[in-house]
Amino acid sequence: MKTLQYTLPELPYANDALEPAISSHTIEYHYGKHEKAYIDNLNKLIHDTEYEDMSLEEIIEKSEGALFNNASQAWNHIFYFFTFSPEGAREPSGELRKAIELQFGSFDAFKKDFVDAGTKIFGSGWVWLACDESGKLLILQKSNAGNPLTDGLTPLLVFDVWEHAYYLDYQNRRAEALEKLWDIVDWDVVSSRYDMD
Ligand code: MN
Repeated sequence: MKTLQYTLPELPYANDALEPAISSHTIEYHYGKHEKAYIDNLNKLIHDTEYEDMSLEEIIEKSEGALFNNASQAWNHIFYFFTFSPEGAREPSGELRKAIELQFGSFDAFKKDFVDAGTKIFGSGWVWLACDESGKLLILQKSNAGNPLTDGLTPLLVFDVWEHAYYLDYQNRRAEALEKLWDIVDWDVVSSRYDMD
């Protein structure tokens, strides 16, 4: 029997480092309370079950219901928060840059398509940039805890469109909240996820 398998990783930046795109108040609640609760629930749900010896990715691929929801939310938030940096590259580079320009026309056109896709998700969810085995890029709209891992795709970038992600700072203005995230995405992180594929 294992205890406390998953813990909340410490963020590589201060709570106020992403302001004004994301306030310290939002980080405190969104990461410190919402994400912590998903991780706590995940630990409770896998305790003394066959899932205890699986990786988090394996749990996401093999579970459903409450376990899938909490495991996937736990994974998605770490992926989301660790994509941001107060001092990262603000544009993609290398192979990812070439693929974005080839498929979307330009980096600006991609950003517009991505924010539009996130804005149009009805209710809670996540907008993803992912790629398939051939390197083809896909913008995916996922409801609730949805994740491209269950489609056999490689996640590259994600914006959280749950109200808890933006309501404290932007109230009902989701499009504006998503637009502001371009100021804090670290494209070195995103580009390296594509190169590794
Ligand atoms: Mn969230």
